[in-house]
Amino acid sequence: MMTDSEAQTLTFPPEITVKNDFTDQLPEDPNPANTRRQVTGACYSRVSPTRVKAPALVAYSREAAKLLGMSDSFCRSKEFVRIFSGNQLVDKTTPYAMCYGGHQFGSWAGQLGDGRAINLGEIHDPDTGRWTLQLKGAGPTPYSRTADGLAVLRSSIREFLCSEAMYHLGVPTTRALSLILTGEEVERDMFYDGHPKMEPGAVVCRISPSFIRFGSFEIFSARNELNLLKKLADYTIRTDFPHLGEPGKETYIRWFQEICRTTAEMIVHWMRVGFVHGVMNTDNMSILGLTIDYGPYGWLEDFDPSWTPNTTDARTRRYCFGNQPGIAQWNLAQLGNALFPLIKEVEPLQEGVDRFRTEFEKNRLSMMAQKLGLNPFDPSADTGLIIDLLELLPMVETDMTLFFRNLSKIDLSLIEKPKPDMEALAAPLSPAWYRPEQKTPAYMESFNRWLNQYARRCHQQTGPVQERRDRMNRANPKYVLRNYLAQQAIEKAETGDFSMVRDLLDLVRHPYDEQPGKEIFSKKRPDWARTKPGCSMLSCSS
Ligand code: AMP
Ligand code: MG
Repeated sequence: MMTDSEAQTLTFPPEITVKNDFTDQLPEDPNPANTRRQVTGACYSRVSPTRVKAPALVAYSREAAKLLGMSDSFCRSKEFVRIFSGNQLVDKTTPYAMCYGGHQFGSWAGQLGDGRAINLGEIHDPDTGRWTLQLKGAGPTPYSRTADGLAVLRSSIREFLCSEAMYHLGVPTTRALSLILTGEEVERDMFYDGHPKMEPGAVVCRISPSFIRFGSFEIFSARNELNLLKKLADYTIRTDFPHLGEPGKETYIRWFQEICRTTAEMIVHWMRVGFVHGVMNTDNMSILGLTIDYGPYGWLEDFDPSWTPNTTDARTRRYCFGNQPGIAQWNLAQLGNALFPLIKEVEPLQEGVDRFRTEFEKNRLSMMAQKLGLNPFDPSADTGLIIDLLELLPMVETDMTLFFRNLSKIDLSLIEKPKPDMEALAAPLSPAWYRPEQKTPAYMESFNRWLNQYARRCHQQTGPVQERRDRMNRANPKYVLRNYLAQQAIEKAETGDFSMVRDLLDLVRHPYDEQPGKEIFSKKRPDWARTKPGCSMLSCSS
């Protein structure tokens, strides 16, 4: 039963300014019914979150709250839980779900839309700008198709922790404000094998300047709703790309080129930290070049470019680590097609898509040079060193994170000695090798040759060794959200113990620091996790 106090809307603390630019400026679905359907002629449908039985706060991100001007005491209040579980509306907000489409696994999938995400509205902060608040798992919307609109605790923990981990790693991403248990159960058949199970339900509040996706434009283009396409493009440019100038053909071209550039930057970061998104459909590509929609993602353990965490993708490996740049480019081409009616010229769009590749290649090399501490980076002389390493790493199972982090610990001056003991020299790398027996003499010969070249290259650069090490440590995290760690936190949380969720949230706040006492979290994947579901295999069921 709803009590009177619960039925009222709440207000945010007075210093927080709520606005609704998206709904004020874009066409609304005139049908107010929350029924599943094709929504045409509109960018969004108004829909309220479904009330839940017993919401309870599991965790919130201090840093994300700060962006919104929310104090710790507000985040710990009952009001906070009511608002961010979707149980009570906030004054001046009019919640809505967005209409979008997308290419899924290479094929046009038609209308998708916010099937379980409900946007509350925007907070405009004088210091940090504009943030859309979005509840994920807040109940069905007109875009829910055949699904329930809900989210389970395990996938919500993964989204919450990874959003914040990525932010602290310096990777462009949407953020997560809160993780709230709903007190209700949700049925999921995790491996689509006829074994459904009841799981705890949860709601994550995500925040981002915008949740508009490539697919937000594709849907209007596919339906030939060119008026809506233009309205959404103009709105996006005016709100999120104002530096490009007033919308018009030239601005659309510059805009597309900027999207190509920011997307390239994002992918370079993914390749730097070993992140595999797992489901890079065009509906999961942010127009702002932010990592969005943390589903069956994973972190590269052994450096295997063909690794995909997504079981649905296991056969074709479309979304594996090494394919991510190519897929991003393919997705940009789909966006380019969608924007064509605004520009009516193929050439500048093609140029943008081509520029993605050149920008990506250039940035990837300088990113790799940072990981190796090469400074200044000389592409003509250093590229070979980078390529050789990328060929060596997958030959034996090598933990990517540990390899790069520990590479800086090697005392390269020892190589100068006559007959250096290469094994002793490379000892800091030994924790990175999963199967030492794979290190055949032939492999070690190639590896030592590379290490020699690397040492020679490092000797050429001036400046103290410690400076190179510090530089490397800023590009090579010590702590990432290893797949098995997230899974351990989930298993504990499912028994009601949320301590590890909070510990990991704390850990990922300083991924580049040594964090004495927490080394256990930097260890390579234990053998038991090699093939365990949730650790190395993830499904889209969430
Ligand atoms: P995803 O694979 O998570 O990117 O989702 C693809 C589409 O399915 C999006 O339109 C989602 O909103 C929708 N979707 C995913 N899970 C659910 C769910 N449990 N209920 C409703 N819609 C969902
Ligand atoms: Mg999605």
